[in-house]
Amino acid sequence: MSEKLIIAIDGPAGSGKSTTAKLLAKKLGYLYIDTGAMYRAVTLFAIKNNILNDENKIIELASELDIELKLEDGITKVFVNGKDVSDEIRSLEVNQNVSPVSKIEGVRKILVEKQKQIGKNGGVVMEGRDITTVVFPNADVKVFLTASIDERARRRALEFAQKGQDVDIEKVKQNILERDRIDSSRSVSPLTKSPDAIEVDTSNLTIEEQVDLILTESKKIADKKGIKLEIN
Ligand code: C5P
Repeated sequence: MSEKLIIAIDGPAGSGKSTTAKLLAKKLGYLYIDTGAMYRAVTLFAIKNNILNDENKIIELASELDIELKLEDGITKVFVNGKDVSDEIRSLEVNQNVSPVSKIEGVRKILVEKQKQIGKNGGVVMEGRDITTVVFPNADVKVFLTASIDERARRRALEFAQKGQDVDIEKVKQNILERDRIDSSRSVSPLTKSPDAIEVDTSNLTIEEQVDLILTESKKIADKKGIKLEIN
């Protein structure tokens, strides 16, 4: 039995997954894995290589790219073939193309395999759309985060504003709704709530409250499994 938990968090864009998962991982001394960043990295390079219309080439690209996630001063840095692309993968252009790329079965196969390898020994907080259902259906702790569409759009617009990018909140909202639609309706591992996941609506919760809630659940589960959690 693993001495450390696998904590899986799913939910739609802007539901608070990244912030919550990152803080939770920090408190537990666990690895934080943002799987959306991996799909974004493939999308960025598909745009750069001008191959968005060629599924086979995108699959080939996904198998060739060396994607590394590193946490530096609390910020997830994403490196592709050694180059820091952390800012580029968050552009509006990537936002607009990432869901169609993520629908491709061959791309998912490659990235899901990488994610399984990263988390197999436990001690990980992994977040995305299919972590509780496909990547780690046997995760020790499963969480599904939600929030109202207005709140999710407000959070994403704020992120852009903090980076000095002025975006129309209505556009951000439309992009989120479109991504939700594609992510939830695709045939391969769609975004759905696993029946055994704890659902947390974060619309009116602070980040600390969200983290505490999941931490409390994790403690209960760890106790039952005889796993000791060290909380910083
Ligand atoms: O979490 P984030 O918004 O960065 O994810 C970007 C996109 O990556 C999602 O809209 C979805 O299309 C895709 N994704 C996915 N499966 C995951 C994580 C992300 O399909 N596990």
